[in-house]
Amino acid sequence: MKKRLCALAALLLLTGCGIQGLDNEQYDAIGSGEQDKAEAPAQTPDEVGLSIHVKKEQIYEGNLLLVDRGHAVPPEGGGEPAVNLFEHKELTKGFGLLDDTVRLSPDLTRKFTEMVSAAAKDRVDHVLISSGYRDEDEQNELYEQMGAERAMPAGHSEHNLGMSLDIGSSLTEMNQAPEGRWLADNAWKFGFVLRYPKDKTAVTGIMYEPWHFRYVGLPHSAVMQEKDLTLEQYLAYLKKHSIRATFGGRTYEIFYFPISEDENIRVPVSGSYEISGNNEDGVIVTVDTGPDDEDRP
Ligand SMILES: [Zn+2]
Repeated sequence: MKKRLCALAALLLLTGCGIQGLDNEQYDAIGSGEQDKAEAPAQTPDEVGLSIHVKKEQIYEGNLLLVDRGHAVPPEGGGEPAVNLFEHKELTKGFGLLDDTVRLSPDLTRKFTEMVSAAAKDRVDHVLISSGYRDEDEQNELYEQMGAERAMPAGHSEHNLGMSLDIGSSLTEMNQAPEGRWLADNAWKFGFVLRYPKDKTAVTGIMYEPWHFRYVGLPHSAVMQEKDLTLEQYLAYLKKHSIRATFGGRTYEIFYFPISEDENIRVPVSGSYEISGNNEDGVIVTVDTGPDDEDRP
């Protein structure tokens, strides 16, 4: 039965029907399954799975880097460099910019645009970006203006990493705007997460910010939404469990590996994979193991 629900959920997502109407039972099916990490490799014959050579610097690259008071933006920073969006009109279709200083990488802007287009189909179309990438000087200025309660020191803001943005509505404040509500419900389908939720201030150490969204990529955003985990909670969870998640008709297996030097790791399943560091002590390997097949054991 659970497999059927997975298929149903995946189908709904694929056909763009949205997930808003799904009840809890169906919703649980989206990112289902976990297994005790210690057991997984022992059950798998040596010839099955992936052998991957991981370099130590990969701890500091990827979509899942944790950046907070205790974890600085690594020297190499995020991925693609940011550009001034005001000077790149071709990248800013379907949303506004608060002013002419907003910077974001073209890659992240395209992912954001995909999400904004889906919102527009639901008649939520007053989205604007108020802040994207900030360099350390800008962050330092903000920190001095706002204070430690409301801003991160330079080098410790997700804005310095370049994978977060502050999203606004041209109608009203985000905690009341249709844009804020729509994003809180739907951003995960596009790889984004509301990074500082109202009920997680004790975990994040940051006040509720209904405007601040972080890109982590799929299927991670779906799992975080389903399990109600912030990024720090998700990374901690992965240290104890591997996860099997289904999304968009595909099945993914997600594993954490501690890394202390360049080394070979053995992943107990096969498929195309992505690696992201956690910006601390290891990497997360996400394997696309194929279509979400009802007959899988
Ligand atoms: Zn922000």
